[in-house]
Amino acid sequence: MAGNAPSSVAALKCSAGVKEELETQKSIFDPHGVDPNLVGKMEYDALVWSSLHGLVVGDRASQMSGRLPGVGLVHAPISLLPMSFPESHWKQACEVAPIFNELVDRVSLDAKFLQEALSRTKKVDVFTSRLLDIHAKMIDMDKKEEIRLGLHRSDYMLDEQTNLLLQIELNTISSSFPGLSCLVSELHRSLLHQFKQHLGLDPERIPENNAVGQFAAALYKAWAEYNNPRSVVMVVVQPEERNISIRKTLAEIDAQGELLPDGTLVVDGEAVAVVYFRAGYAPTDYPSESEWSARLLIEQSCAIKCPSIAYHLAGTKKIQQELAKPNQLERFLENKDDIAKVRKCFAGLWSLDDSSIVKDAIQRPGLYVMKPQREGGGNNIYGDDVRLALQRLEKEGMEEDAAYILMQRIFPTISPAILIREGVSHKEHVISELGVYATYLRNKTNVIMNGQSGYLMRTKVSSSNEGGVAAGFAVLDSIYLR
Ligand code: ADP
Ligand code: MG
Ligand code: MG
Repeated sequence: MAGNAPSSVAALKCSAGVKEELETQKSIFDPHGVDPNLVGKMEYDALVWSSLHGLVVGDRASQMSGRLPGVGLVHAPISLLPMSFPESHWKQACEVAPIFNELVDRVSLDAKFLQEALSRTKKVDVFTSRLLDIHAKMIDMDKKEEIRLGLHRSDYMLDEQTNLLLQIELNTISSSFPGLSCLVSELHRSLLHQFKQHLGLDPERIPENNAVGQFAAALYKAWAEYNNPRSVVMVVVQPEERNISIRKTLAEIDAQGELLPDGTLVVDGEAVAVVYFRAGYAPTDYPSESEWSARLLIEQSCAIKCPSIAYHLAGTKKIQQELAKPNQLERFLENKDDIAKVRKCFAGLWSLDDSSIVKDAIQRPGLYVMKPQREGGGNNIYGDDVRLALQRLEKEGMEEDAAYILMQRIFPTISPAILIREGVSHKEHVISELGVYATYLRNKTNVIMNGQSGYLMRTKVSSSNEGGVAAGFAVLDSIYLR
């Protein structure tokens, strides 16, 4: 793959012969070529800026950091300069954000579709099965979620060969980094401003990013919609949470929570208007039955859940794959243009009962990613392991194949970048994944909020398969529109 594509773009732009401009274009698209003294200054300033503006995370090396706010902090892993990204693809990702929101909402209302699409997965995946059990209980109770809140992030990679912006996945639970992503955009804008003379880059080409403000506004508006001034917003967190907020773990909710006869969820004496899940997406978030009863208790209540169990299930990889089948989008969306825009973002997605695809994936495993129904990074299967896993499933002839989907592997352009982790910078060749946040809020009759709400660029070394920042694979980044 051409590792130097971005600099050739810069070269084209400068064909008018403005040598100076060539230099400046190069300096962002090839940070490896920037004078080491200047890079050193920028790195130092980036770390100072991060400390002063709260672009920090709890340091895993500090034992206290998960328990005591403000203790044991380290700057977040970052890219020194923003990643160049085509404006047309940025606009495309923003334009589909409200359509994906509407799609999730419509899918969430089709309980039968969710149960049926996940019925084979249910037999072999205990975690998804437990989620489906809660969902089934809600169907039995004829539970209606009248106020629905979605804080989503749809992730994309730009496939180099086809120049298509393809969706990696849509997160409906615990979409991460709305806070830090805004700070990274601000940091990059500030560096471009401060080193303008040397870099010659326009800070205004970094799009505005107010994900944290928009997520907060959505939580506030949901709280207002609940219409009990004495109620609270409760954030469900993992024990030893390294993000700071008003928090309860699922175990604490099980111990301190109760349901009033009118459906009000009361935790620790407070009526809860909105439950925002920053945990509950992974099997490890449910170490005992306590956590499952807390999840059920919340679901049975009339608190607004972000996400409801149906929104959670609508965000599974299996549902993504089902929606990519012919004529499925048409069940949920009417507008033909909207359908076309959403479909254009779909990469190849297949279930493992498609024998011709399984055969091809065994022959050419590098062109596929195998995914279980999991969130949080580090769960997918790549390369030769795809072949081994598929061959094992074939040999065993078990239904375990239903736990996975197969996805076309996307190959983004490789670019040079400088990544900083724990104060140490590394010159790397990287690929990036753009996440576009979106907020959605509606009540029985009206859509109150529905739109793109900021973004997150994650950049990782090109040789790494996975992309999680918290999982230690990637760094936080922003985009520079070209
Ligand atoms: P999770 O919910 O765990 O984040 P993802 O589907 O986002 O699961 O996969 C995790 C990471 O794996 C992504 O951030 C990306 O780096 C990589 N990845 C996932 N799907 C693909 C794909 N089709 N092509 C290339 N890389 C992928
Ligand atoms: Mg995810
Ligand atoms: Mg992901």
